[in-house]
Amino acid sequence: MRTSAFSESEEQAQLRATARAFVTRHAPERDVRVWDEEGSYPERFYREIARLGWYDMVADADEPVEDTAALLITVCEEIGRASSDLVALLNLNISGIRDLARWGTPEQRKTYAEPVLGGHGRFSIGVSEPDVGSDAASVATRAERADGGWVLNGQKTYCEAAGLPGTVMELLVKVGDGGRKRDDLAVFLVPADHPGVEVRRMPALGRNISGIYEVFLHDVRLPDSALLGRPGQGWQILKERLVLERIMISSGFLGSVASVLDMTVAYANEREQFGRTISAYQGVSLPLAEMFVRMDAARCAVQRSAALFDAGAACEVESTMAKFLCGQIYAEASALAMQTQGAYGYVRDHTLPMHHSDGIIARVVAGPPAVQLNVVARSMGLRAG
Ligand SMILES: Cc1cc2nc3c(=O)[nH]c(=O)nc-3n(C[C@H](O)[C@H](O)[C@H](O)COP(=O)(O)OP(=O)(O)OC[C@H]3O[C@@H](n4cnc5c(N)ncnc54)[C@H](O)[C@@H]3O)c2cc1C
Repeated sequence: MRTSAFSESEEQAQLRATARAFVTRHAPERDVRVWDEEGSYPERFYREIARLGWYDMVADADEPVEDTAALLITVCEEIGRASSDLVALLNLNISGIRDLARWGTPEQRKTYAEPVLGGHGRFSIGVSEPDVGSDAASVATRAERADGGWVLNGQKTYCEAAGLPGTVMELLVKVGDGGRKRDDLAVFLVPADHPGVEVRRMPALGRNISGIYEVFLHDVRLPDSALLGRPGQGWQILKERLVLERIMISSGFLGSVASVLDMTVAYANEREQFGRTISAYQGVSLPLAEMFVRMDAARCAVQRSAALFDAGAACEVESTMAKFLCGQIYAEASALAMQTQGAYGYVRDHTLPMHHSDGIIARVVAGPPAVQLNVVARSMGLRAG
C-alpha cells in the first residue's frame, strides 16, 4: 500500500527494478533501433511480458489488483525509456484485456483475451475513419443485423498494429440512427484476418515498430458473440477505456523524455567546443534544466491521476491534463535534444531520431491538444456555446 500518490511503494520499487532489468535485457538500444528502422515487431518482447504476468493485472474485473494504475505507470515508464511505441503496443493489449474483463462474456474472454494473456495474440483499436478524427462519435462504419448476426461495412484509419499476426481489432461502429450519436454506437471484436477485412500498412514518419494501418470492411459477417457489451454501449466502453489508456501512455512518454534527457546530458558533458564542454554554456544547460522541471511536474500529474484511478475516483479531466502535458514535453524534449546534440543527433546510428519522430506525434495520439483543452475548458465552467 502506498502512503501518497507521490511516494513509491515497496511493490512499485520492486516492479520498477524488474521492469528496468527486463528492458535492458529484452529491448536494448541497438535492438530498438533495428526494430524501428526495419519496422519489425518484437514478438519475443511481448511473449516475455505475458510470461511476467503484467497483463494479468487487468484480467479480472471482479478482483482488481490493488494499485493497478500505480503499478502500470511504473512498467510503462520503464518501457518508455526504450520506446513510446513499445508502450503503445503494451497499452493496446492491456486496454483490450481490460475491456473484455469489464464488458465481455466468459466465452469472449476465452476466445479473444486468453491468446493475448498467453503471449501470442494482440489487440488493436479502430475508432478513426477517413472523415472522423477527434469527433469520434460521428463514425460512419456501420453494423447491420443480418441472418441472426451482423454485417459490417466501412473503413477505419490509423489503426496501430492492426496488421500484426494474431490481432483482434476492437472496432467502434454505428448500429442505429436513433437519437444522440453517442447512443447509437457499439464495439465489435473483429480478427484482422476475418473474411471481408482488408488491412494495409500506411507509410508514416514514426511509430514504425507497431505500424499504422488502414482497415477496409467489405460485408464482414460476424456472429452475435463478436459484439462487446450491448448495442448502444460503445461510447461508454470507449470513454471508460480511455482514462487508464491516457495514464499509461503518458507515463510511457515520461520514460522517453527521461531517456532523451539522459542521453543529452551525457552528450553535453562530453562534447567540447571552444575549449569547454558544451554543458558549461548556460544556453545549453538551462533549457535542459527547465525541461527536467517540466518532466517532474508532468510526472506529478500522472501520479495523481493514477492515485485517483486506483481510489476509484473520477479522473477524466486529470488524466486528460496529464496526457496533454506529457505529449507536449515529449515533443519538446526530443526537439531540444536534437538541437543540443547538433549533427550527431540527426544521424540514425542512435535512437534520438526515433524519439524525435515519435515525440512529434505524442501530442496527437489519444486526442490532440486543442481537443484536450476543450475538456479542461468545460471543467472550468467555460460554456460550449
Ligand atoms: C501514431 C498514431 C497512432 C494512432 N493510433 C490510432 C489507433 O490505434 N486507432 C484509432 O482509431 N486511431 C488512431 N490514431 C488516430 C488518432 O486518434 C487521431 O489522429 C486523433 O484522434 C485526432 O484525429 P485527426 O488526426 O483526424 O485530427 P482532426 O480531428 O481532424 O483534427 C485536426 C486538427 O484540428 C483540431 N481540432 C479538431 N477538433 C477541434 C475542436 N473541437 N476544437 C479545436 N480544434 C480542433 C485538432 O486539434 C487538430 O489540430 C492514431 C494516430 C496517430 C498519429
